[in-house]
Amino acid sequence: MLALGIEGTAHTAGVGIVDETCRVLANVYDMVRPEKGGIHPREAANHHAEVVVPLIRKAADLAGIDLADLDLVAFSQGPGLGPCLRTVATAARALALTLDRPIVGVNHCVAHLEIGRGVTAAKDPVLLYVSGGNTQVIAFARGRYRVFGETLDIGVGNMLDKFARECGLSFPGGPILEKLARGGTALQALPYSVKGMDVAFSGMLTAALALRKHGASLEDLAFSIQEVAFAMLTEVTERAMAHLENAEVLLGGGVARNQRLQSMVGRMAADRGATMFVPPGDLCIDNGAMIAWTGLQMFRGGVRMTIPETVVDQRYRTDEVPVTWR
Ligand code: AMP
Ligand code: MG
Repeated sequence: MLALGIEGTAHTAGVGIVDETCRVLANVYDMVRPEKGGIHPREAANHHAEVVVPLIRKAADLAGIDLADLDLVAFSQGPGLGPCLRTVATAARALALTLDRPIVGVNHCVAHLEIGRGVTAAKDPVLLYVSGGNTQVIAFARGRYRVFGETLDIGVGNMLDKFARECGLSFPGGPILEKLARGGTALQALPYSVKGMDVAFSGMLTAALALRKHGASLEDLAFSIQEVAFAMLTEVTERAMAHLENAEVLLGGGVARNQRLQSMVGRMAADRGATMFVPPGDLCIDNGAMIAWTGLQMFRGGVRMTIPETVVDQRYRTDEVPVTWR
């Protein structure tokens, strides 16, 4: 069975093709990079509209298949930016109708977890999902993926990107700050904001920007933001693992590529006799392969959608999805 997945919840348009063993035959993407300022939903949607067809062709070429070989079309149904979601949903509907193949809308957050289970040895992990727009600790319980903790304001990636932008660095800021952080030495005092299993980052952003104004170096601030933010994330992840008596932790989302985050979570896992799993970087960030793979499993789990049921949902919650495939 071959599934094609289209991702487009936010800044990245991606197309992936996978088979029923989670072999990734193609995974291509194109990210909108605003010259200045943040991501504008309409501009990002226009970008996706321009690149989605070339990406579909490129994915098919890389996979060495004809589009007629596909058995299923999947797309990111939410959560995300409305104009972006509608653009990729339209592309997916057009493709499915043209090929006369079934279509399945996929929850983006669930897809981050499923691709990790698909390409690593993790079986029933606690997922620390850390991306631009989302920050959640997710695990499977009683037929659903449940959110055990999440950000109360902005995603951790968004915090990194905003700090970087205000300091004149380019987008995405996370990888740039990771490099700068290696040169940092003095830990600056930043708010450590954990409430139960939830976290908050906007106070840290404000505090870091104020310290920058007062002359703290970019290296020290990048270092301090990473140390404090990632310690918060590690703490809530550990709390979920302890609560669930779960010995597997999986990382997902673009921030999961960060080596310092990986080493902190890895250390926590090792200390509790647990194992950490990290998918390859291209499958951590927003990507079409994770949508294809999740759609394929949903389809095998009996999920069928009519075109009217493929309406997008900007606030599609992780725990709204009945998990019929495991
Ligand atoms: P996603 O939304 O999952 O595609 O991930 C994009 C986010 O990941 C952006 O906020 C990036 O700044 C962030 N990101 C990517 N690579 C890194 C890295 N090495 N360290 C920290 N953040 C990163
Ligand atoms: Mg994501």
